[in-house]
Amino acid sequence: MFLKWLRCRRRRRVTAVPFPDEWNAFIEANVIHDQRLSDELRFRLRKLIQVFIAEKNWEGCNGFAVSEEVKVTIAAQACVLVLGLQNVHFDHVLSILVYPDSYVAKTVETTRAGVIVERGHARLGEAWWRGPVILSWADVLAGGRRESPGRNLVFHEFAHQLDMMNGRMVDGTPPLKNDKQLQRWVEVLEPEYKQLVERCRQGHQGVVDCYGTTNVAEFFAVLTEVFFECPQLLSTHHPQVYGVLSDYFQLSPHSWRN
Ligand SMILES: [Zn+2]
Repeated sequence: MFLKWLRCRRRRRVTAVPFPDEWNAFIEANVIHDQRLSDELRFRLRKLIQVFIAEKNWEGCNGFAVSEEVKVTIAAQACVLVLGLQNVHFDHVLSILVYPDSYVAKTVETTRAGVIVERGHARLGEAWWRGPVILSWADVLAGGRRESPGRNLVFHEFAHQLDMMNGRMVDGTPPLKNDKQLQRWVEVLEPEYKQLVERCRQGHQGVVDCYGTTNVAEFFAVLTEVFFECPQLLSTHHPQVYGVLSDYFQLSPHSWRN
């Protein structure tokens, strides 16, 4: 209780400071999603960014220097995911490790519970349960500037972190409000996952990337990318999936500015 009170007090202090102009310039240059938000959401995003930057440990790898630009660009994208959620600050993510580019992993462990490693030998990112989120700066920037439509590394890795908020098991289901929401989640997403597996097996491309067939955790992470990156496409082609995600994130990105 006392720790919670201390944390609230610290957050109030952090968010009472005016948002630096320089940080706004970094967002304008590197995080295109901000331009789509309403004034209210942009205001909320900045408060979340201030807390996120203040509370995480930041570390550069392979000689990479973590500048304020790097922190703001990562924080702004991560916090878009939690704009509609009550008091979610990724508290269980203690550190952010940033590599200059995709990197070759030193370990070969890829399947232990609570560890998600992405895409083959040259890794783009990782999410560890109660551990660091590891990101490639080149890919963070490409996602923020929407140079790879439909893909966003930060959304993807932090979707895994939302998934891990209810424990080490990364099962593609973040904490939900109640049984009704969980029932709807399963009703809609289970058949969609099976359909995606079938479509990809036949070699057809669609709105949702076939990387989502890796397992249900990757399915949720890939859906999160599409929900925020291509909401119109998702709501047109998979309206029920869009509805379930909109209900979870408490956001309607298909109505945001283009
Ligand atoms: Zn993943």
